[in-house]
Amino acid sequence: MLTQQPSGSAAAAAPAQPSQSRPTEELIAYFEGAYVPLGEAKVSIMTHAFMYGTATFEGIRGYWNANQQELYVLFLREHVERIRNSAKILLMDDLPSADELASIVLETVRRNDFREDVYIRPSFYKSTKAIGVRLHHLDHELYVIATPFGNYIDIEKGVRIMTSSWRRNADEALPARGKIVGGYVNMAFQKSEAELNGFDEALVLTPDGHASEASAANLFVVRDGVLITPPVSDDILEGVTRRAILSLARDAGVASEIRSIDRSELYVCDEVFLCGTGVQMSPVVEVDHRPVGDGRIGPVARLLSERYFAAVRGTLPEYRSWLTAVPR
Ligand code: PMP
Repeated sequence: MLTQQPSGSAAAAAPAQPSQSRPTEELIAYFEGAYVPLGEAKVSIMTHAFMYGTATFEGIRGYWNANQQELYVLFLREHVERIRNSAKILLMDDLPSADELASIVLETVRRNDFREDVYIRPSFYKSTKAIGVRLHHLDHELYVIATPFGNYIDIEKGVRIMTSSWRRNADEALPARGKIVGGYVNMAFQKSEAELNGFDEALVLTPDGHASEASAANLFVVRDGVLITPPVSDDILEGVTRRAILSLARDAGVASEIRSIDRSELYVCDEVFLCGTGVQMSPVVEVDHRPVGDGRIGPVARLLSERYFAAVRGTLPEYRSWLTAVPR
């Protein structure tokens, strides 16, 4: 069952739309080759992916633009390409092409006839009913879920994070680059530790002690006006939003650098923020009980947030290529 994003982990600039929520069971999902009510999309408890976490998924957002009466899927192409790569890491072949996958995702959303913000989750999962942990000689299937997802919190608040005592799974153990379902237990340890200690999010370190990312978001810091984010070789998910933020920064004339970041650098930098499909743009105001900068949201995070939220709703023509309108 999907849950709404927890408060404190996301922010949005646009006013909330009234939810037209309907029973989850009645939402239309794509499941093993057909479009069916979600209540009918069921797998056996012997499904390999259920027993061993051998699946990959994407989290995609759709933004409702009330003025244009359009639902825009954000970075559809990038997400379908990444899930194909993750599936490849999991030794899945015979995958639908990126175009085929994109049209299944769009068709799933179209059939639900949403007029509000949505969350879309495609997943390839090892569907063979078999005991025995491995990747090879197993079938896989695809599902796509789409559900209303419009929980808004105050962008002005900022989030408080703590360094997790759990490390990010290393590339040579469980590649963070692949969005692998079983790998998310690593993030669950981090997120729960942070929340149970009264923080909103976790700062996660690589096995060799560099800042990698948050539990489900990429990390940026700002020092002396320069935007800095860890490289893809620091055990991060190669975030779609991370790439978008780098291009927004470039277009806005903000210099950026991709390099490793030490934990203590977060204590002395001017700004910190997290970004991702789920958290969108979340400025961080406190790290390990130390205020970030003066403890308020800084100018670079503010500028990039404003641009980001305008772009995803389709109000900045120069970023219209980020969006795919859902056909009616
Ligand atoms: N890191 C992790 C571990 C994530 O789960 C996510 C969310 N997908 C991100 C980073 C951000 O990635 P994206 O911008 O592609 O959503």
